[in-house]
Amino acid sequence: MLTGTCHCGEVTWTLDHIPNATTSCNCSLCRRYGTLWVHGFYGHEINTVGKTSIYRRKVEGRDDFHFCSTCKCLTHYVAGTANEDGRHLSAVNLRLADPEAISDITIDHFDGFESCKVVQRNQRKISDIWF
Ligand SMILES: [Zn+2]
Repeated sequence: MLTGTCHCGEVTWTLDHIPNATTSCNCSLCRRYGTLWVHGFYGHEINTVGKTSIYRRKVEGRDDFHFCSTCKCLTHYVAGTANEDGRHLSAVNLRLADPEAISDITIDHFDGFESCKVVQRNQRKISDIWF
């Protein structure tokens, strides 16, 4: 299991496993936030505790981006539309985790701006950008 906490400690996310990879996306929103995402389903692999405020992005369906109401860290997002089995895709912002716990995780670069495909895999680890 992995946990992440906003700067003030009000919001915590938990991920039920240690991921091999994280996603850095260049879409119009992710490149501004600078997030490192790990995906799962909300209420299943991903759970959160604490009061958040939401920025709702409307593209196809919608995505709710959750921020700590106090310190404003972006903690996670949840897809507004459920998939066929009723679960909502979600992702946690790995940058809120303890650096030592995630240092060996590799960064996948996702082209969310154009092709919506992973364009580079297993190039660098988090320890390469946080030294
Ligand atoms: Zn906070």
